[in-house]
Parts: sequence; structure tokens; C-alpha cells
Amino acid sequence: MDYQAFFEDALQDLQSEGNYRVFAELERNVKDAPRAIQHVEGKKRPVTVWCSNDYLGMGKSALVRETVSQMALEDGAGAGGTRNISGTAHLHVTLENTLAELHGKEAALLFTSGYVSNWASLSTLGSKLPDCTILSDAKNHASMIEGIRSSKAKKVIWNHNDPEDLDRKLAALPVGGAKLIAFESVYSMDGDISPMAEILDVAEKHGAMTYLDEVHAVGLYGPRGGGIAEREGLSDRVTLIEGTLAKAFGVLGGYVAGSAALCDFIRSFASGFIFTTALPPALAAGANASVRHLMNSDMERMRQCRNVARLRAILDRHRIPHMDNPSHIVPVMVGDPFKAKFLSDTLLENYGIYVQPINYPTVAKGTERLRITPSPLHTDADIDHLAGALSELWSQCALSRAVA
Ligand code: PLP
Repeated sequence: MDYQAFFEDALQDLQSEGNYRVFAELERNVKDAPRAIQHVEGKKRPVTVWCSNDYLGMGKSALVRETVSQMALEDGAGAGGTRNISGTAHLHVTLENTLAELHGKEAALLFTSGYVSNWASLSTLGSKLPDCTILSDAKNHASMIEGIRSSKAKKVIWNHNDPEDLDRKLAALPVGGAKLIAFESVYSMDGDISPMAEILDVAEKHGAMTYLDEVHAVGLYGPRGGGIAEREGLSDRVTLIEGTLAKAFGVLGGYVAGSAALCDFIRSFASGFIFTTALPPALAAGANASVRHLMNSDMERMRQCRNVARLRAILDRHRIPHMDNPSHIVPVMVGDPFKAKFLSDTLLENYGIYVQPINYPTVAKGTERLRITPSPLHTDADIDHLAGALSELWSQCALSRAVA
């Protein structure tokens, strides 16, 4: 077999479908967040970033940067081992205690990323719970899908955000055997929020465990940033809450929070926890400072909400179609992979605006979009510049405007 030709052909196919992924390589500028520098033909060009998942700018805050750098100086760069073999620092345990407190749970368990926490926890639960069926929302993230796949448990997919379909599918399962419902709170591409209370009602009716991914909600929702479950007063009804430290908390790492026995069970059996080096303790310290800060400060969340509302209002004025949702994610709908890429390239080249196009397979074909995430750090002038640029390009690309 000509392996090289195989790889080249596959890449060529992606390119011809408009789905080849290109990333912008940026030099970040912490002093002037949310800006970055792009190097073009030996010249530096300032760029405003509009698609970061450092939703509240915490990764650029003095608090987090100083905590991480000071702890790296004192403690070193790496953990030096897996959690069970010399890699557990006091800073990891402190962070786990903070996360348990954030979610009102007995315990929490850290992983090296949100992806790993989903994959490791779901694959462990699905493979160890007796005769387990995992009921997975149709729009769950790739990390959950991979975890479920590698658990080899039976999998049932229920319609996205549809508790009635979940109820029907649970009722059709044979009696006996473990049942685990896996879903998210804020779905990252459409920015919609799950009907959590109804899903938990169905779970309780059928005696099922619940696994809730709050990756796009922690830090952002709830009075202390405990996510949608905290905001709705439902945390105690969710069996296991999963989150990331890499988005609103601005650092790196993932976790699950639940009962002490459940976290200890995953700690004891999950290969994704056992067989990998622990997070650098300095990052754990930075994440801890970030979580603690957002448990006590509403300022970032309020400013972000204000910027999201302002951007939506101006997009409406220009009749730029954006998906209506109750979250901080503003999907501007394009509906064509080539146009989405053209818009993204032109925004970067001509307007100094960076928004990555989102194409298949991340979203369904025909729903290609620019996914915009306003942060508390964007200024009114930034918002006006973005909306004005989009409006000009909308005319240039002959894209249809939203109906008033
Ligand atoms: N869960 C969801 C819903 C996500 O969107 C992501 C990443 O975007 C993850 C988990 C993985 O989190 P992390 O980036 O910390 O690996």
C-alpha cells in the first residue's frame, strides 16, 4: 500500500469539501487581553480574538498568572509522577477539595483534561457497573462518546434535550442492570441548555445514575460558578458532575465531583487516571485561585452577560442571523463551509478579527457557522467593530439577512 498517497488523498478530500482544518497561529498578548499578534510575512499584525474558550479571561488575569508562576518557581514545572506514585502534591488535593465544595459534593477527582475526565470516568463506569446501559444525549461531546465506546457497555442514544424520549427509551430497557444517563448542561456549538430538572425526574423514576458534563457552564453560571446545576438548585440530584479547568477557569485540567465512594471507585479503576502523569501542581494552584475567585466574584460573569447581550442586539440591528439561545455562546449562522472559511479569513486579514469557522463534522453540514464568545474583556468598540465587519461581509458574500 502507498501509505503516503493514502494520507495525501484523505487530506485532499477534506480540502475539496471545505472541511480541512486550518488554525491561526497567534502570539498572545496578556497585557492587552483579548488581543493577540499574528505574524504575517515578517510583519506583526494585532488581532482581537472572538472565539476563545477562556470565557472570562481568567487565564490572562494577574491572579492566575502570578499564582502559576510563583508556584512553578517554588514547586517546579512538572508533577514528577502519576497521582499514585509520587505525583500527588498538596496543591492537587487542595484543588479537589475546592471543586467538591464548588459542587456541594463529598469529593472530586482531578484529571489532566476535561476530555480525559469524560473518557476515563465513562469508560470505567460503563465497564464496571453490572450489565450497564449508558443512555447518551444525541449531541454529547466526542470525549463522552469515546468513553462510552471504550466501556463496551450497551449504548442507547436519546433525542437531544428530549426527556420524553429518554423516558421511553429507559422504559423499553429490561428490568435489572445498571443505567447511566450521560448529558451536558450547555451544549457548546448551539449554546442551548438542557432541561435538567426534567431529565433528573426521568432518571429518578427509573433508578438511573446521572453523569452531567458542565464543561461550558462551570465558572459561568450559578451564584458561585457551580454551573447550571447550581443555578437551578439541582446539584445534589446529579450523581456525578464533570467539568474543566481549561475554559472559564482559564487553566488546564478536568475533574469529576460526586460521592466519596464514587470518586474513590473511579480513582481506583480508571486507567486514564492511574496511568498518566499528574497535572503540574503549579497549574493546580492557578486553577484553585481561579475557582476560588469566581466563587466570590460576580463581576466577570455580569460583564460577560452584558457584552453577550450587546453583541446580540447589534447583530439584530444589522440583521445578521444568529442562533437564539440562553447562553454566552453566539453562533452566527452561515450555512456553507466555503463561505464560513472565507468570512473567517477575511475577518482576520482585513479587519484584525479572529473567529474560527466551525464546519462538519463538528456541526452538521449546512449549519456551518462562526461561533462567537464575547468575554468581559471585550470593549464596546470591539463589539461595534465586529458587528460592522460582519455586516459588510454579509453584503459582500450575498448572504441572507435575518428576517426582522
Ligand atoms: N466536554 C465538552 C462538552 C467539551 O466541549 C470539551 C471541549 O471542548 C470537553 C469536554 C473537553 O474539555 P477539555 O478542553 O478540558 O479537554
